Amino acid sequence: MPSIKEVSPIANQIIKKYFLCDSCLGRLFSKKLNLSSNMLLGKKLKQNTSPSSKKCYICKNLLDNLAPYLKLMLESTSKYGFSSFVVGTILKPSIIDRDDYIRSKFRLRGIDSVKTDITHELSKQFARKTKKNLEFLDPEVTFTVNFKEKTCQLRSKQISLQGRYNKIKRGFPQKQKSCENCLGKGCRTCDFHGLTDYDSVEGKISKFLFSKFGGTIAKFTWIGGEDKSSLVLGSGRPFFVRIKNPIKQKDRLPKIFKTNSVIIHNCKIIPKVPKKPLTFRSIIEIKVITEEEIQSSSLKKLKKHLASPIVIYGNSGKRSEKKIFNVQYQKNSKNKFTLVVKAEGGFPVKRFVIGDDVVPGVSQIIDNNCKCEEFDFHEIKMTTNN
Ligand SMILES: [Zn+2]
Ligand SMILES: [Zn+2]
Repeated sequence: MPSIKEVSPIANQIIKKYFLCDSCLGRLFSKKLNLSSNMLLGKKLKQNTSPSSKKCYICKNLLDNLAPYLKLMLESTSKYGFSSFVVGTILKPSIIDRDDYIRSKFRLRGIDSVKTDITHELSKQFARKTKKNLEFLDPEVTFTVNFKEKTCQLRSKQISLQGRYNKIKRGFPQKQKSCENCLGKGCRTCDFHGLTDYDSVEGKISKFLFSKFGGTIAKFTWIGGEDKSSLVLGSGRPFFVRIKNPIKQKDRLPKIFKTNSVIIHNCKIIPKVPKKPLTFRSIIEIKVITEEEIQSSSLKKLKKHLASPIVIYGNSGKRSEKKIFNVQYQKNSKNKFTLVVKAEGGFPVKRFVIGDDVVPGVSQIIDNNCKCEEFDFHEIKMTTNN
């Protein structure tokens, strides 16, 4: 291991021509000497030189004056709750150029760059001041300190949640139309939420979660969908959602949150939204209206014909199958009956009733033109383990 004495001559040679602050001078040799404090090493190396009021050739004394940037970081976090962070920095290119110049001129290899040192120093000071943890792998907030523009930008880690909802009012869509100005990306008009209205299941859940966690955009993964006129009953429909840029990383959630149209329940934070396609089964109650009078004998055919999977033809000739596990029916009047099916998720209810590229459809089975008046969900059960 080389000693301070050995590097002293070259250190003197450098500062004679290019005066450096303690941190920058120490940095050039600390790795080689296996020392952790650049500043202390810099001080020692300067012991026998006369004190100078010159500015550091590389950093222009930035390393001794990080306080205003630390203040910017603290200000940007005033609303945020978090426990871990990481810092990124953007420096003036001239600082980096001068650092490169000194390193190549004096053939100094394997040392930290001035950018690394500034970032490290700022992180250390922030951690000391706030008692938050510096974490590189999965930090809750990421700072970008821009020394060129004297700004600090903060991004927080998205949070993922899962929950269930019931829809107790008809005429209410599941999905919300995006903000027309930004098409859902987030802009000033929509307060960066990507939505301007909140009159849907998506809107109500988003609003509830924004009130809890803050954040910009809520991105949903739905376990199936329903019609505007459908109700979602029973234990509700599961959903997953990611909230971008939350102010808080955690909060207590009520077991149940009611609005006059949607009830949100069992909402909780999860590590992440599952990526694989999620399979599920639904119990759907379908109100069917027929053109001709219903013959009870024809309804009997439903069970037999729906014992094997129905085939669905898509626009481009794509063919898929859905299984129906259980069929029940009840005649309500001359032209109306209720059909309750337990079916594989993603079942096209209206097309199935009409018989529109779905084989067999209800119309064909009972030999009577049918149409779907409305349909409600009684149960949605996920069949994928996650
Ligand atoms: Zn310096
Ligand atoms: Zn917008």
